[in-house]
Amino acid sequence: MCCGEPPKPNKPIRATSAYAKWIAAGCPRPNKEQFKIRANGCLECSHRQGLICGLCDCVLAKQILGVELGKLSMATEACPLPEPKWKAIDLDDYLGVS
Ligand code: SF4
Repeated sequence: MCCGEPPKPNKPIRATSAYAKWIAAGCPRPNKEQFKIRANGCLECSHRQGLICGLCDCVLAKQILGVELGKLSMATEACPLPEPKWKAIDLDDYLGVS
């Protein structure tokens, strides 16, 4: 996960780590409501630079071959602010287990 770590340095390593964590978790995605909360948080954020989070340098939304691979669509990702505007989705909730 890139967030919670120091911003900017080692972006390729952080991005690879974020994708590795997401893939290891089974590529979980937020549902529509969760995605909307995430997207609205970023839309209102002064750190957003287009489709990039200016704090951690992550791509917020990006489609490759029709597959959404941006940070907003990865349930394991979180906003890097000290008081995050949105958090990683609890995978127990995602799987419907308590
Ligand atoms: S991930 Fe957090 S810090 Fe980054 S643009 Fe979105 S709301 Fe802002």
